[in-house]
Amino acid sequence: MTRIGAIEAGGTKFVCGIGNELGQIEDRVSFPTGQPEETLAQVIDYFRDKQVEAIGVGTFGPINIDKNSPQYGYVTTTPKPGWSNYPFLGTLKKEFAVPFGWDTDVNAAALGEVTWGAAKGLDSCVYYTIGTGVGVGVYTEGKLVHGLVHPEGGHVPIRRHPEDTYGGFCPYHGDCLEGLTAGPSLLGRWGVKGHELPVDHKAWEIEAFYIAQAVTGAILMLSPRKIILGGGVMHQQQLFPLIHAEVLKNLAGYVSAPEIIEQIDSYIVPPGLGDNAGLSGSLALGLEALAAHSR
Ligand code: ADP
Ligand code: ZN
Repeated sequence: MTRIGAIEAGGTKFVCGIGNELGQIEDRVSFPTGQPEETLAQVIDYFRDKQVEAIGVGTFGPINIDKNSPQYGYVTTTPKPGWSNYPFLGTLKKEFAVPFGWDTDVNAAALGEVTWGAAKGLDSCVYYTIGTGVGVGVYTEGKLVHGLVHPEGGHVPIRRHPEDTYGGFCPYHGDCLEGLTAGPSLLGRWGVKGHELPVDHKAWEIEAFYIAQAVTGAILMLSPRKIILGGGVMHQQQLFPLIHAEVLKNLAGYVSAPEIIEQIDSYIVPPGLGDNAGLSGSLALGLEALAAHSR
């Protein structure tokens, strides 16, 4: 069995673990995200005697994923104190002479889901997290999409719900997808946290209206074989049927795939890996780095 290190680097907390090629996670620790120096010191301490063969890092961003850039492995423009322009990957590479996988948390989650989860064996999927923020990971034609920087589908502009007067909380765009649907928007719009709202509250209709628009765009643009919706807000399972209905309404029969028209409830789904999607994804990144290294 291979021993792979996995790091799920979140804006609120870090999770580190050890896993293998079957996707089994054998050990894990978690600690709050502080300043980068102290946080990475904890990461380094954890892995010091673990003898891993590779390490995968799935992280909050934006990050630099351009291998030809001197800033490869940096966190770039985050408002998170201390992390902006920080050489995250380089700090770890100084300590461990193993292959590293490095990608966004949501790209990692998408890879984990095609490797072991809800999109297992498929050659494409789009993974959304609706949590503290909104992020989108894209896997297509058998690989993660990187592009010019990396996809930032959490910040797409969105048509407003006619009854919604909330201005959105995104510090850059106000009422982008993230500004209108991530966890803090529920508090901002309704004055209480999402988990305190009843399941039949109007909030979920509005939430589904926005998420469905984004998902409709993803379907039209990328034609993925599966859409996976994770993150804290998606613990509200009543959102799924609302989103299914809204996506079908938006598509209006134009995309005629039976997977969508006849089986939308198995097309837009929660993560197969549940709340392990993030750490398992980082594990998958580590395995991919090891495989690339031995080729
Ligand atoms: P993060 O995005 O920080 O990695 P989560 O995916 O757990 O973490 O998302 C946290 C956000 O999700 C918070 O804004 C929280 O209020 C919201 N949230 C968590 N659980 C629920 C729930 N059951 N219903 C609605 N919102 C929730
Ligand atoms: Zn935004």
